[in-house]
Amino acid sequence: MCGIVGYVGEKEATPVLINSLKKLEYRGYDSAGIAVINSVADSDESIIVRKCKGAIKFLEEKIENELVRNAINGNVGIGHTRWATHGEPSDLNAHPHTNVSGTIAIVHNGIIENYAELKAWLQAKGVVFKSQTDTEVIAHLLNYFYTQEDSPSKGDIFKSVQCARQKLVGSYALGVICKDYPDRLICVRKESPLIVGLGQNENFIASDVPAVLEYTRDVLFLEQDEMAVLYCDHVDSYNGDGEKIIRKSFHVDWDLSSAEKGGYAHFMLKEIFEQPKALHDTLAAHIKDGGLTFSQEINPEEFNSMIHNAKRIVITACGTAYHAGMVGKYTFEKFARIPTVVDVASEFRYRDPILDKNDVFIVVSQSGETADTLAALRLAKSKGAKIIAITNCVGSTVSRESDYVIYTLAGPEIAVASTKAYTTQLMCLYMLAIQFGFIRGEIDKDEYRKVLDALQAVSKKAQTILDNQTEIQKFASMQFNKEKIFYIGRQFDSANSLESALKLKEVSYMHCEAFAAGELKHGPIALVDKNTLVIAIATEEALYEKLISNIIEVKSRGAATMVITNDDTGIFNESCDSVISIPKTDFYLESMLSVIPAQLFAYYCSVSRGNDPDKPRNLAKSVTVE
Ligand code: GLU
Repeated sequence: MCGIVGYVGEKEATPVLINSLKKLEYRGYDSAGIAVINSVADSDESIIVRKCKGAIKFLEEKIENELVRNAINGNVGIGHTRWATHGEPSDLNAHPHTNVSGTIAIVHNGIIENYAELKAWLQAKGVVFKSQTDTEVIAHLLNYFYTQEDSPSKGDIFKSVQCARQKLVGSYALGVICKDYPDRLICVRKESPLIVGLGQNENFIASDVPAVLEYTRDVLFLEQDEMAVLYCDHVDSYNGDGEKIIRKSFHVDWDLSSAEKGGYAHFMLKEIFEQPKALHDTLAAHIKDGGLTFSQEINPEEFNSMIHNAKRIVITACGTAYHAGMVGKYTFEKFARIPTVVDVASEFRYRDPILDKNDVFIVVSQSGETADTLAALRLAKSKGAKIIAITNCVGSTVSRESDYVIYTLAGPEIAVASTKAYTTQLMCLYMLAIQFGFIRGEIDKDEYRKVLDALQAVSKKAQTILDNQTEIQKFASMQFNKEKIFYIGRQFDSANSLESALKLKEVSYMHCEAFAAGELKHGPIALVDKNTLVIAIATEEALYEKLISNIIEVKSRGAATMVITNDDTGIFNESCDSVISIPKTDFYLESMLSVIPAQLFAYYCSVSRGNDPDKPRNLAKSVTVE
């Protein structure tokens, strides 16, 4: 889950590594470290390693004096910002890790599943471990293959990496440096993401593109099992068998400023406010001649034939993307009349699911690297299902391994709590649902057009909500100390309540649950008292009255109440302490709008409680480990 970076070039490596790491801090921030091949000839430290517990700023403080004295000189280095999986966050467990003599250093993103076995094997050979991490076994294993008399890779660091990886079970993106090879950096990936940035007399590795954007826009996306060796003036790429390959570079055309805060206090707020544009861009990219076209790479005949033959839709995802899938279910069943099931990827992958070639399997993942979602995708593919991916990241593993890809054009999402990715995922699911409905003859041209027009109007309506955010901010400032929060809703609004509750949990750490409103009296209402806030989402006019009954039930038990609604008649004024109005749209599409006040509420509660909403405790952005 962490972020790794690496540099080979003419500049001093350390400032570049620190700068790049800061762009990846959203991936993990419980410790940070760097390692640089020492270019000072008479130094006894062949590789300088500096690392410490906590955010990157602590590492910066730690090395500040040394940097001023030019005591960390070197043009080849690696860096890491950690999200611990094995071993508590601590100075010792921070990466980079080295072999015993300190001549080989590595950074790792992922999990080595057989580390205990490897550790015991290495310990039996006399290796003394310094950390509790799974990662450290890699450093010692490399050393073993590099130094062992009878090793086929003795003295050859590239071959040693190849040999070591044969022994590793699990996931890894690795950056490796070795004092005997002061002109290069080796990297390899399996499951965990890794890109190579191609500069002028400098090259980079990173877990994600924003880390290198300040230096270059030309990147290589390493595929599964590939390796690369970076030198100052060129990069060699290799496939899993160690054969040299030619990789095509990809030009990144989005701006670095979109990965920076641009005047907002936090990325989360910036990204909430970017939703009108993200929604507009996502739809605009898929509309041509008054209809939906999904991508130039999608063959419309094949795509339509898949739609015709679909017997069932299975949507699989994790976290926020899973909630998008829950909303998507209602939409597919409404517009396309196809039975749709939604599954959590981490459950799906282990329960021998029933799938066949007439199932359409939709995976939703912002990063396109979510480990569980990827595993579910591969399982569904092996059973013959057709795969459609909805993702925000071009070149991601999910996008490469799917039959069809529908991109959200949300731009980089940096805050850990997903906001614009969610609403644009909904946009893509709605687009797909009406396309399925239209191609299968469930909706006619007029209805198709009507929904498409409604989708086009959503972006402006989202802006109206943001322009009127003061009421939500005020309400958050009054409610941020509540003990318990419940979101309730019916139908779509109940699915959207799950996402609204997740947002609040993630960034405010308030205890929050979501229930289908009709379920309240089957148990949860026992929890309601004067320390409870109940937030209702009400966008379906036909169900307003039912929801009002539920609101009155909790209010009469002492709860404070708020409603997020598209009603414009004042029907909720009496039962609710606060009424947040959102514009009307086709009610099947309301989730894209009704979640925005909930995102803002979560954000303002987080700030009022003194939290950093961009870096919620225990969470990392893209969950690339199981
Ligand atoms: N498993 C490694 C550790 O705990 C790396 C985790 C990560 O990818 O952040 O240090």
